[in-house]
Amino acid sequence: MDCDKCGEPAVVHAAYSGLHTCESHFRRSVEKRVRRRVREDSLVPDDATPADPETWVVGLSGGKDSVVLTQVLQDTFAEDPRISLVALSIHEGIEGYRDESLAACEALTADLDLRHEVISYAEEFGVRMDDVVAEDPENMAACAYCGVFRRDVLERYAERLGADKLLTGHNLDDEAQTALMNVFEGDVAQMASHFDASLGPFEPTGEGPTERARREQDHHVPRAKPLRDVPEKEVALYAHLRDLPAHITECPHAEGAYRGEIRELLLEMEERHPGTRHSVMAGYEKLAALAAAALDDTEDDPDFGSCDECGAPTAREVCRKCGLLDALGASA
Ligand code: SF4
Repeated sequence: MDCDKCGEPAVVHAAYSGLHTCESHFRRSVEKRVRRRVREDSLVPDDATPADPETWVVGLSGGKDSVVLTQVLQDTFAEDPRISLVALSIHEGIEGYRDESLAACEALTADLDLRHEVISYAEEFGVRMDDVVAEDPENMAACAYCGVFRRDVLERYAERLGADKLLTGHNLDDEAQTALMNVFEGDVAQMASHFDASLGPFEPTGEGPTERARREQDHHVPRAKPLRDVPEKEVALYAHLRDLPAHITECPHAEGAYRGEIRELLLEMEERHPGTRHSVMAGYEKLAALAAAALDDTEDDPDFGSCDECGAPTAREVCRKCGLLDALGASA
């Protein structure tokens, strides 16, 4: 098949759009979608200037998603004095997995001449995920511990690095899976916070962010997911075509049985009804915005205070991270 745009040999067929594209048009289309998302989510504020630039911290795991996001952002903003990028990687302490992906992060950031910070659970909390999994005092999946520790590290270091925004490499499949999980679990509050934390725009455009979103942003570094319009397979193909140093082995502790089922379901639906993921997200974003606005009218501001142990913002006496570390006999 030939490229529908230029007649060169096509490297990909996107069933949801019907388009066959060559390597050059495919790469441009991925980059265009990331840049359009940056624009539509108003990530670059009007008042950002070379004298007062925005700092964007990018969560870089070394997997294809975060590697592609970092590369496209650096291609886009390297010459823009209003935006300064910093890559932040986390070493969870997972034998035979994280060392390899950190090597990919180092290769990429060296190539892009990008500041790169690496934080380890061992240094931060005195724990390694391999030991947490072996001990498992709360009888939970590995990712439930790891997610709490990761959020804490990302938040604190994003702040320490002066981040105005924290960007992560979630792709279209990740986001459509999360959307369906929230719908299937009937979790309206989770939909609202998903919208406030990373789906809504930053600057007032039309509806603008809700008060609830502003509160969210008072307590956390605002997050964004500029890759969320690009399907997972296209991210992988982009990384391959550009020969980016992405690490593709899966974490040995990955579980997510429920997410795995949703993933299979979505892929099956996409196969039979191309465009399903896009339409799930289009409808879900509207639904999540309505949920955020409705809860904003009815809910009181959660009584945020500081964790008695580490001082992090929390609505409890001791935050979730410190609670888990206590159970593990470790400390922050
Ligand atoms: Fe951590 Fe789970 Fe990711 Fe492994 S798959 S790095 S345990 S969150």
